[in-house]
Amino acid sequence: MPHTGIVKGVLGMLARHELSVHQRKPHVRQLVYVALPGVLLLALANYLQSGYPLPGIIVAITAVLMMGAAFFMSSHEKLLATAESLLLLFALLASVALGLLGGIAGSGILWIYAFPFLALWLKGQRQGAQWSLVWLLAMAFSMLAGSSIFPFAYAYDEKFVLQASAALLFYSAIALAYNFSRSQLEEKLYVSEQGMQAKTRDYVSRLELAAYQDGVTGLPNRLRLLDILSREIANAQERGHTLLVAHIRLKKMFETAILIGPDASDKLTRNIAATMTATVGSRGIFARVRRDEFVCIYRKHTEDVNASEIIRDVLAFRLEYKINDYAVHIDHTIGVASFPSHASDAETLLRKAAQAMLQAQFANQGLAFYEERMELQFNRQQLLFVQLHEALHKNALSLHYQGLIDLQTGAVIGAEALARWIDPVSGPIAPAEFIPIAEKSGLIKAFTLWTMREAFGQLARWRAEGLDLFVSINLSARCILDHQLIDDVRGLLKEFNIPAEAIVLELREASFADTPETALQNMMSLHKLGFRLSIDDFGTAHTSLASLKDLKIDELKIDQSFMRSMATDANSRAIVLSTIQLAHNLNLRVVAEGVESARAEQQLKDMGCDIAQGYHYCKPMPADVFNQWARSWQINRRAVLSA
Ligand code: C2E
Ligand code: CA
Ligand code: CA
Repeated sequence: MPHTGIVKGVLGMLARHELSVHQRKPHVRQLVYVALPGVLLLALANYLQSGYPLPGIIVAITAVLMMGAAFFMSSHEKLLATAESLLLLFALLASVALGLLGGIAGSGILWIYAFPFLALWLKGQRQGAQWSLVWLLAMAFSMLAGSSIFPFAYAYDEKFVLQASAALLFYSAIALAYNFSRSQLEEKLYVSEQGMQAKTRDYVSRLELAAYQDGVTGLPNRLRLLDILSREIANAQERGHTLLVAHIRLKKMFETAILIGPDASDKLTRNIAATMTATVGSRGIFARVRRDEFVCIYRKHTEDVNASEIIRDVLAFRLEYKINDYAVHIDHTIGVASFPSHASDAETLLRKAAQAMLQAQFANQGLAFYEERMELQFNRQQLLFVQLHEALHKNALSLHYQGLIDLQTGAVIGAEALARWIDPVSGPIAPAEFIPIAEKSGLIKAFTLWTMREAFGQLARWRAEGLDLFVSINLSARCILDHQLIDDVRGLLKEFNIPAEAIVLELREASFADTPETALQNMMSLHKLGFRLSIDDFGTAHTSLASLKDLKIDELKIDQSFMRSMATDANSRAIVLSTIQLAHNLNLRVVAEGVESARAEQQLKDMGCDIAQGYHYCKPMPADVFNQWARSWQINRRAVLSA
């Protein structure tokens, strides 16, 4: 502070040295507590000693009246200033009285200097200084002019007036300087406390922000999203609007982050958030709920516009960026749930949108709308996935075998291995249900390996027992894409010491819809190893036979549906016949599955079909039952033949 500032401060010329109300009230009271008994004591002493009892009585009464009034007034904020002034006025009057009556020359000199301290203490620097000035003037007047005006006034000698005036000035200056430095210190403390409080407030608000906001994108986080969504639901309810909640999961973000590094990955996430919010604009609100998951709340005003169209339209972002010289393309999966159709509270709506996203992901689609049926199915699939995993581990699956009959000789020549799973809780679960789950969840590789190991083992045992059969094993489309497949089967052939020629590998026709290079190579390798390859469910995917020519196929299995329709439909019969003829022209063996009657068997025989399979002969059965069935079948057949 510059010197003029200090001088101004000491003299109370700076506005800020005011005292606050909560400080002032106790000051008044403390002063009354100390001053009133003191004054009364002095008055008593005066009364007893001086021989003039009147001044003592006057002082005592005035003190009680003025200080008592000040005490009570101090309870009211509005009267506080008057209360202070009353106290000071009393002190001023007492001082002047002392001055006039000559008390300063006696014992009054002891306490007279207290006035400026009291004034500053009660009124603060500014008004305290003013009161002190008035007091100084009043004292000067009482000493200098008093005796010439009032006859009763005491006449001071000049030397005393000079000394007393110097002392009064000196103590006033001390009081001003002392009070100034005290209030300076208080102010410093106040400022630093304010600073601390501001810092704390800032810190708390940043903490609050972090609790509600995603640090990377600045979007609301999950917690905040719940608030926003609840509010949006309430608004929509009031106005009769529909809300769409889209859960968006970005694919391969983790892998991308590893590739480009954490900083670039944050930048990418920010870019993605910017693209999404820019695409949707003010129509939707975004939040980032997990590392690679976002939620968009979209208000739909017009009922007639299809929700799926809107979403497709609105969420059609292309997330393509160039980061560190990498061209990064991020795919995403979206699940949508809507208010009020699917839920009317934020928590459930969000869960259902996430559920729909998982459904989309599971079905390998980019977008799915929530459906209760799908949720139930999805939950069952998730449960089955866990159970299947355990079943595989505990070897709780088994293979059943269904006989394959040579239509020319009537002999059992082979068996198709069909997987069976009886879960201790859910009961028997059909392969049509659990195999797709195994395929989607990545369990299929372990499952196929298990099937092949089982079937290869069974074949080896049958061969050792003198049952000369081939075994058909179903291979899922996924497996044929597996690079390791060939090594695996080669190992198994060696382990069980069986010829590959005794094994037929069935691939469903649908798996040839688009056949990548690995699949073609694998099929070629299997063919070279000696396995026979069969096309299962032929006729369901409408592949032309000619297009399968290069695939090294040995066998066609005509789909069961043709057997069912053949009985009544001439067209089906014609298709089956031409398929058999065409297959024979291409040197392929033909198997008919789902043969349930002697009539169907006869028709197939007439058409020249090679092999039949179906309930007409036997149902799939456990290996030991199949053993007995196959032996008695052969014996009966021989009996029929020789009869
Ligand atoms: P698929 O390969 O076409 O197997 C024939 C299915 O038809 C079997 O059903 C069999 O029990 C049934 N079937 C046999 N004869 C008749 C008949 O006369 N009438 C009727 N209505 N059905 C008959 P399953 O065992 O339920 O198997 C269903 C599908 O599951 C199989 O169809 C196959 O695609 C798949 N699958 C079964 N086991 C395995 C396996 O170990 N691995 C793979 N990848 N798929 C398997
Ligand atoms: Ca099959
Ligand atoms: Ca089939």
